[in-house]
Amino acid sequence: MNEKVRCLIIGSGPAGYTAAIYASRANLAPILYEGIQPGGQLTTTTEVENFPGYPEGITGPELMEDLKKQATRFGADIRNGIATSVDFNCYPKKVTIDGEKVIEADTVIISTGASAKYLGLPDEAKYAGMGVSACATCDGFFYRKKVVAVVGGGDTACEEAIYLAGLASKVFLIVRKSFLRASKVMQDRVMANEKIEVLFECNAVGLFGENGVEGVHVVRHMGEANEEKFDIAVDGFFLAIGHTPNTEIFKGQLNLDSVGYIITEPGRPTTCVEGVFAAGDVADSIYRQAITAAGTGCQAAIEAERYLSEKGL
Ligand code: FAD
Repeated sequence: MNEKVRCLIIGSGPAGYTAAIYASRANLAPILYEGIQPGGQLTTTTEVENFPGYPEGITGPELMEDLKKQATRFGADIRNGIATSVDFNCYPKKVTIDGEKVIEADTVIISTGASAKYLGLPDEAKYAGMGVSACATCDGFFYRKKVVAVVGGGDTACEEAIYLAGLASKVFLIVRKSFLRASKVMQDRVMANEKIEVLFECNAVGLFGENGVEGVHVVRHMGEANEEKFDIAVDGFFLAIGHTPNTEIFKGQLNLDSVGYIITEPGRPTTCVEGVFAAGDVADSIYRQAITAAGTGCQAAIEAERYLSEKGL
């Protein structure tokens, strides 16, 4: 039998749990499905030093456990399960969980996050949390006055390289092509930065180090007659080759941008479907931080409450 709820939250990162805190305190009796990664991306990191309220820092798993406890304290119903399909063309909205159970919801808050893309090198997993990162804003601080490499040639890679150059002593930007794909202004800023050395036509093919990343194996002109192999010594290895928003099930139901991020009204979590809201990294290709995810989770819950109240639901 179908279950009917006033507010369904999909995803258990900072956006989902924050939405659950606000929605339960507003008496919406929210149900939250955690998905395949309960606690979201922060459960894969050790120290989080930039989430307000933790002057000594906190580990990612502890922070997420605290958020979950806070949501549970106000009555949020947090469940295991993955949303496998949705139908937003009807009222109430229908969300199928684990291919079986159908939840009918007056409002839906989507907070399914986004996953960073990696090169697929076995060494990326081997050195996870030991020098490999996909977030300069999160981890750059740990590399003050150290040497780092950034992989990528687009705007994000250039932004991350410039950000890291403000902290590190040197930044290698490893670019597969013979040019940067980034906008002209970003290219100019990178090329003018004395701390950044761009390695064009280069592929990172492996990492090395005893107790963490100590360097990158690089191949220039890979597969060509003039192929050249060399190593660079670095303390940190940053991926900046894009993210994949977790929006496969929303294709054809919501407006998505060319990468797959949910398009929301500027500055608001409202989507193109009334009563459906998006919060966190799933709708944010720019900031991708725990605090911004939490902030938009709060906005989404407030909007859900107002929508229900306006409709008299
Ligand atoms: P996520 O945390 O990505 O959570 C998404 C949730 O959706 C997961 O629970 C997943 O299981 C669920 N989900 C996905 N699909 C489905 C589905 N179909 N059905 C049900 N559930 C689903 N940010 C900082 O501010 N500071 C840091 O120090 C920091 N360090 C980081 C370190 C690492 C290694 C990584 C990867 C990220 C880091 N970030 C940091 C970024 C931060 O983790 C993200 O910005 C934040 O987690 C985004 O929150 P979110 O709620 O949008 O989504």
